[in-house]
Amino acid sequence: MKQTKILFQVLLLLVVWSGIVTAQTNTLQHHAALIDRCGTETPANYRTWRNSVVGNRNMVTTLKHDTCLNKKFSVVFYVVLDSNYQWGGGLTAASLTTCINNLNNAFKPICVSFMNCSTAVIPNFPYNRWYKTVTDPIVTSNWYTDKTINIYLVDTIKLPSGASGYAYFPGGKDAIVIEKNAIGGTTPIHEMGHFFGLVHTFDDISGPIPTSTVVPNPSQPLTTELVTRSVTGRNCYTNGDGFCDTDADCFSQSVSALAPCGFLHGPKDASNEYFIPPVDNYMTYYKPCRCRFTQEQYNFMANVILTQRLYLH
Ligand SMILES: [Zn+2]
Repeated sequence: MKQTKILFQVLLLLVVWSGIVTAQTNTLQHHAALIDRCGTETPANYRTWRNSVVGNRNMVTTLKHDTCLNKKFSVVFYVVLDSNYQWGGGLTAASLTTCINNLNNAFKPICVSFMNCSTAVIPNFPYNRWYKTVTDPIVTSNWYTDKTINIYLVDTIKLPSGASGYAYFPGGKDAIVIEKNAIGGTTPIHEMGHFFGLVHTFDDISGPIPTSTVVPNPSQPLTTELVTRSVTGRNCYTNGDGFCDTDADCFSQSVSALAPCGFLHGPKDASNEYFIPPVDNYMTYYKPCRCRFTQEQYNFMANVILTQRLYLH
């Protein structure tokens, strides 16, 4: 009897210990993710696609400054339930309202708005560990509303690693995936920017390789965009993100390493000028500082909506 009791205590200790180890491993993995990045993949044919839509033009002269689309998009939220069949992850109905309100504020300058037309649940809790290559094809083929923007809310995006969200560019699925705890911040706006065709400010449309999924390396700027905006010396319409009113962004920097919304000295461009990235732009990784799109970004998205996204209700 005594032996049984000791055996039970040892087993209990082992269970508790393995729980602690698992928790520590999870914490480490979370930190190993390094930064809260974006999992959107820029299509390999992005530059060709962009040229076919707008070319390398000044977006402010392409559309009127105050182009008003008067377009309302329907959004269907799909919440992956937890193992207790609850929304989980701190997600509430108010979170969804906040998300819609934030999107509406961000897109107001071009009179684009969003409406939560329905909220559905996906009762398969394992999908909360979301792998883009595995979970996404299963879920989007079973839970998907045609001609609307489908937003999937999950606990953790395991792949792409470290991503808090990702979207599909025009021509892809009408889908955005976001971690539940990122729904209230600027992630939905950032992903909607991709959904309407924007790349990151640190991406480079002149390069043959999509750079969005490259792990950032501060010593190697991803962009070949020059800092200068002088008409004769600039390359901002052909390099970087293709806009001249977004400053050249040297890399996908986690803001935690910076002073609040400032930018400490960093690398220089090919002309030996210091980068001064647009930390306030929604398409950067300077997450706590993100609060705006530029006029060219708005006009580009307006153009994309008019030519590529009007099939959406
Ligand atoms: Zn992104």
